[in-house]
Amino acid sequence: MSARILVVDDVPANVKLLEARLSAEYFDVMTASNGTEALAISRRAECDIILLDVMMPDMDGFEVCRRLKTDPATHHIPVVMVTALDSPADRNRGLEAGADDFLTKPVSDVVLIARVRSLTRLKMMTDELRMRAITSLEIGMQAPERSAVADTGKGGRILLVDDRESSYERLATILAAEHTVDVEPNPTEALFHAAEGNYDLLIVSLDLNNFDGLRLCSQARSLERTRHVPILAIADPENSTRLLRGLEIGVNDYLLRPIDKTELLARARTQIRRRRYTDHLRDNVQNSIEMAITDALTGLHNRRYMESHLATLAEQASLRGKPLALMILDIDYFKSINDNYGHDAGDDVLREFAVRVRKSIRGIDLACRYGGEEFVIVMPETDLHVAGMVAERLRRSIAGEPFAIHKGTKRIEVTISIGLTTLERKGEAVAEVLKRADTALYRAKHDGRNRVVSQAA
Ligand code: GH3
Ligand code: MG
Ligand code: MG
Repeated sequence: MSARILVVDDVPANVKLLEARLSAEYFDVMTASNGTEALAISRRAECDIILLDVMMPDMDGFEVCRRLKTDPATHHIPVVMVTALDSPADRNRGLEAGADDFLTKPVSDVVLIARVRSLTRLKMMTDELRMRAITSLEIGMQAPERSAVADTGKGGRILLVDDRESSYERLATILAAEHTVDVEPNPTEALFHAAEGNYDLLIVSLDLNNFDGLRLCSQARSLERTRHVPILAIADPENSTRLLRGLEIGVNDYLLRPIDKTELLARARTQIRRRRYTDHLRDNVQNSIEMAITDALTGLHNRRYMESHLATLAEQASLRGKPLALMILDIDYFKSINDNYGHDAGDDVLREFAVRVRKSIRGIDLACRYGGEEFVIVMPETDLHVAGMVAERLRRSIAGEPFAIHKGTKRIEVTISIGLTTLERKGEAVAEVLKRADTALYRAKHDGRNRVVSQAA
């Protein structure tokens, strides 16, 4: 996994040093000697992570960071501030500006690489989501960037796993100023608690009695329901090597004791903000997947989905030697419904038709809108005889009860014609099956409509 790291420093020797270390680990390195240059490179989306010097003439690192984090085009790029002094005041200024982490000069190799690797993973995951979410923007969903830059990161739900009373009491009090906090002093209960609670952040102490906090972190990473919840680890300074191991297994950030109040709050906000942003992206992706396979008017599957899924169903049926029935349904004289009552009335009929179809079929049956007023239903493990009964029941459920139109003020008679067939021969192409059902439908129309015609293979 290689990432492009942008190193920003006004002192060429510092740039060279970081560049050499990162290149040795096969990272791709770009450099900038001032804030303006760094902002331009970031806006062109040319880098994955930014190592940002604090002390620079003109625009200092805090200002560059603030601008990066408030710009929808760059807010998601992880920023590591590189400071000469490790003063809490400096750290907190950087965190307030939205920095993701700090490195103190002289930068330790191990810490540098561990941080950059862990942020690389995060960036890759976010990029993947962003890329997929672009499709959802194209189909009109709201861009999450705007709400992400406006998010304060407050009001989160936090689970704190810590078994030292003096420690968790203090931490919970600090965090409660901005969030809802649950404390779990029993580490063996923690995973269950985390999976049930829908948290925005897990804070895990690595100094637990007789329990390996890292194991908990790695379990939380592999469990479906906690996989995307950020983890902030807390450790005594003598446990700091375990923190590096933690970063490798997916811990997002850490703090060393004694814990600075402002820094804890700032780091929690950063993680919660990121979590909300990626959740939002993930939702958009999920919605766009659903939209891509669903017909918007009826909520049934669309033709594209049916065609790809039908091939799979046919293959399974052939392999298992089971029958597969397929019917094409077409509303009779639908054009005249539109002509006589208007297009909206036609839409009402299509929606109500879909509702009745859904009531008549099983969960494993696949119903889709094939075209304007044409529908296809595929029924696994169903032979021609049984499918014929289902089709007949469906036909009656349409013809037997008039359809409401014009907001329920009027009711009209609707009928359908159905062409039905089954996949008989092993390995028969689905196009053949569809064609046979279509021929049967044609006969149903020709013979007077409002009827089912079955066509054996
Ligand atoms: P037949 O009994 O032979 O099937 O006659 P028909 O009028 O139902 O068939 P035809 O194919 O001539 O007309 C279908 C009509 O369906 C034409 C088209 O304008 C209308 N239609 C297609 N999609 C929609 C839609 O989404 N909403 C509405 N209201 N009408 C639609
Ligand atoms: Mg029709
Ligand atoms: Mg038609």
